[in-house]
Amino acid sequence: MSSHDDNPQQTASPIPLKLATDIAPLPVVAASARKQNLLDLDRAGMEQFFVGKLGEQKFRAHQVMKWIHHRYVTDFDGMTDLGKNLRAKLQEHAEVVVPNVVFDKPSSDGTHKWLLGMGVDGKNAVETVYIPDKGRGTLCVSSQVGCGLNCSFCSTATQGFNRNLTTAEIIGQVWVTAKHLGNVPAQIRRLTNVVMMGMGEPLLNYDNVVRAMNIMRDDLGYGLASKRVTLSTSGLVPMMDRLSLETEVALAVSLHAPNDELRGQLIPLNKKYPIAELMASCARYLLANKKRDSVTFEYTLMKGVNDQPEHARQLAQLMRKFGNATQVKDAGKVNLIPFNPFPGTNYVRTEEAEIRAFQKILLDAGVLTMVRRTRGDDIDAACGQLKGQVLDKTRRNAEFRKSLQAKSVQDRGDSTHESKHAAA
Ligand code: SAH
Repeated sequence: MSSHDDNPQQTASPIPLKLATDIAPLPVVAASARKQNLLDLDRAGMEQFFVGKLGEQKFRAHQVMKWIHHRYVTDFDGMTDLGKNLRAKLQEHAEVVVPNVVFDKPSSDGTHKWLLGMGVDGKNAVETVYIPDKGRGTLCVSSQVGCGLNCSFCSTATQGFNRNLTTAEIIGQVWVTAKHLGNVPAQIRRLTNVVMMGMGEPLLNYDNVVRAMNIMRDDLGYGLASKRVTLSTSGLVPMMDRLSLETEVALAVSLHAPNDELRGQLIPLNKKYPIAELMASCARYLLANKKRDSVTFEYTLMKGVNDQPEHARQLAQLMRKFGNATQVKDAGKVNLIPFNPFPGTNYVRTEEAEIRAFQKILLDAGVLTMVRRTRGDDIDAACGQLKGQVLDKTRRNAEFRKSLQAKSVQDRGDSTHESKHAAA
């Protein structure tokens, strides 16, 4: 029995719901002008296409979904239980276009990383990472080419932003990797979990991400339970509220600091949606659906920045308040992530002993707290290290390169200075 069931008073949210009106949509790439890419469609879209456009029965849509997502067949001629007529119609009106593998790289710890080329230009590419662990296989999926949010500790931010990924490009990451792994939904389960924690802010690409997550959770798609598909956000409150009503997926929130002053320095979006509003939205998320039993809070530990005992105490306090607001036991789970460095960053990973001390303060306060082990270190596949090829449309990448250059000139100056001293 879930903790929700234990408390009948939780059916209505005590916090008023505010829906999105102030989010400007980001540019979306136009779909292929002539043929429909079937990878862009979830079950509802497929049924509509087969009935409306092709004049076929619904179950044909289901057959084709199985060919694509269970057997990885993209050529209609290979779909042998479809009649000749239907195959010809499909050739004329539809296609199955998957991302192309630019390269893939296994890590010594079993983690595997792919760089996948996206779109007809083929110049943009994103990274996708598979992380096998005892009894589970997690895929970390990207939602945008680059990211526009500019969090100060994330390497994606240094690459700038190009565009949203289409549904086909998001589910295409699952398709390519599941095929490589020999995954057969409901039979050979190599892929048990998906986390939207790759490049990009998924809630700024809401429709495509939700559609792709529908396919992940559909038996005709990858058959994952809703609680095994996690959307991670830096805290776009209005879209979190919308998501809470429209899907059943699990929610992770990138918190990283327990007070607005510090969080504002790390995550610029905090100035628009400060912690109190964010936590209220998390409570609404939890309470909007009885099947949900917690929200995960991600907290990347950076030496001397957000890793002091005082921060742990403030975080414990936030979690206590969250528990009170929701009346759900263990409503907030904390995931501590040791900072993963990348070229040009000034942040440093907190030492192991301090990480344990930080965790202990939270555990002693009764907060469920895990330390996430760093995986795929040798192939730069860890959290926050994902890099694609971003044709940057902002000035961020140019600015970042300039700062790197300035830094290396300064470092050279410093070392000349030091060597002079050493010689003296
Ligand atoms: N935009 C979404 C999803 C992408 S980031 C979000 O912010 O949640 C996935 C997770 O990795 C986030 O929690 C992010 O804050 C964290 N992360 C980013 N850079 C990191 C780094 N250098 N080291 C460790 N974690 C990092």
